[in-house]
Amino acid sequence: MKVIKIGGGCLKDGPAAGKIIKLIAKRGEGDIFVVSAFYGVTDILISGIEKALDNEDNIPSIITSLKTLHNTIIKSLIDDINKRKQLSKDLSGFFQKLERYYYGVSFTREATPRMKDMIATYGERISAHILSKSLSSMGKESCCLLPEDAGIISDGKFMDASALMTKTSRNLIAAMDSTMTPEKIVFIPGFYGMSESGDITTFGRGGSDYSAAVVAASIKADVLEIWKDTQGFMTADPDNIPHCKLIPELTYEEAAELSYTGAGILHPRTVEPVKKAGIDIVIKNTYHPNAPGSRITKNAYTAPKIIKSVSYTTDVSVLKIYATGIGARFGILSQITENLASSGINIKSVVTSQTCISLLLSRNDIEKGHQSIRKIRPTPYRKSSTITKVALVSIVGEGLQNNRGIAAKCFTAVSDANVNIEMISSGTSNAALYFLVHEDKLDTTINALHNIFFD
Ligand code: ASP
Ligand code: MG
Repeated sequence: MKVIKIGGGCLKDGPAAGKIIKLIAKRGEGDIFVVSAFYGVTDILISGIEKALDNEDNIPSIITSLKTLHNTIIKSLIDDINKRKQLSKDLSGFFQKLERYYYGVSFTREATPRMKDMIATYGERISAHILSKSLSSMGKESCCLLPEDAGIISDGKFMDASALMTKTSRNLIAAMDSTMTPEKIVFIPGFYGMSESGDITTFGRGGSDYSAAVVAASIKADVLEIWKDTQGFMTADPDNIPHCKLIPELTYEEAAELSYTGAGILHPRTVEPVKKAGIDIVIKNTYHPNAPGSRITKNAYTAPKIIKSVSYTTDVSVLKIYATGIGARFGILSQITENLASSGINIKSVVTSQTCISLLLSRNDIEKGHQSIRKIRPTPYRKSSTITKVALVSIVGEGLQNNRGIAAKCFTAVSDANVNIEMISSGTSNAALYFLVHEDKLDTTINALHNIFFD
C-alpha cells in the first residue's frame, strides 16, 4: 500500500484539482491519500480569526468567500448537477460549524490556541471530503477518514503537535484493516491529529507532509509519495541557475537539511517518522507522473563531488548578543532562549563564540526578538544588535565532513567571487555546511558554488 500526499500547490483551482482527480482515479486504487487544504484556504481560515475578533460583522463574508472558493472547484470536479447539489449540502454542515466557531471567538473576544487549531483544520476536512466525493461520482470506491476517527494521536501541543507513533500505528492499522479494499481510495485530511484528551491539534503550518509521513510509517507503507507541481529536489533553485539538474536520489539527512534551507519541497519534519521506519519518500511531479522524480532512501548514491545541492533562504536574520567569557557564564544561553520561546519566537540556529552569541531568527521575528531580550532583567549581556540583509546559503551532501577539502573548495569559490562570508556554521551535520552572505551577493555566491560542484 502506498501513502500519497497531495499538497495545496497541486490544488490551486478547479482545473488543477480536476487533473489530480483523474490521476488518482487512474493510479490510486488501494492507496491512502493524505491531502492539504485547497490553495490559500488555510490562510483565509487563520486570517478570519483576526477579522472575527475585530468585528462580528466580518464573519458572513469570511464564510461566503470560503463557500465560493470551494463551489467553484466543485464545478470543475463534478459534472452531474444533482451530485453537486448533494455535495454542497454535505458541506453546509462544515460551514455552519465554522461559522459558530468564529462567532464564539467574536463573542468571547478571545482566540484560544484550541480554537485557532480547530478552525485551521477546516481546509483539510473540506478538501478531503470534496476529493473523495468527486471520485465516488466517477464510480470509484472512495471514502474520507478523519484523523480523529482513524486515531492519529498527538501529544496535545497546539499549533506544533507531534504524533504519538505507537498509539497512532496501532489505531491506523486497525482502521485500515476494516476500511481498505484493493479497489478503495481512502482520503485522510492532513495537518492535524487528536490528543489523548480529545483536543484537535495541528502539526504546524505546512504540516500535511508530516501527517503523510506519520500515516506511512504507522501502517508500514511500501512508499511515501509526495505529489507536487515541481520535478523534485534540484541541484539549485532554477530561478538562480536555470540549467540546474534534478537530484535522482538523496539520503534522509540530505533531504532533511535541504528542507531547512529554501527548496520548499518538503516540510522539515517529514523525514523523521519515515526514516525510523525505513520507508522511502519519492517526490513525484504531477505533470510528468511517469518520471522517476527524487527518491529519498537510506542507501542513496554519493555524488561525485559529494555535494548534491546548493540551496539558500533569505528568511533569516541575526540577533547578536555580546558578553564577555560566554563559555564561563552559567545559564546565559538558557535565559535568552527561554525569553525568546516565551515570546513565541523560534530559533533557527545558534552560533556562539566567547564574546558573542549569534541567533538566527526568521526575518519576521527579528524585531520582536530583539525587543524581547531587551526586557531581561538584570541584563545578562553587554550589547545587542541585529543584522537583517543576509541570506543563509548551504551546500548539502552526506559525507562532506569526512571528505577532505570540501569546505576549502566552497570557501575558495566564494572568496574568488569576491564575496565576504559573514558567518559560518559548520561541524554540526555531516550532510550540510551553512554560512551567511550579504543579500546582494546571493546570486554571485550560488553561481560560484554551482559552478565549482556541478559544472
Ligand atoms: N494547509 C496547511 C497549511 O497551509 C497544511 C499544509 O498544507 O501542509 O499550513
Ligand atoms: Mg503544503
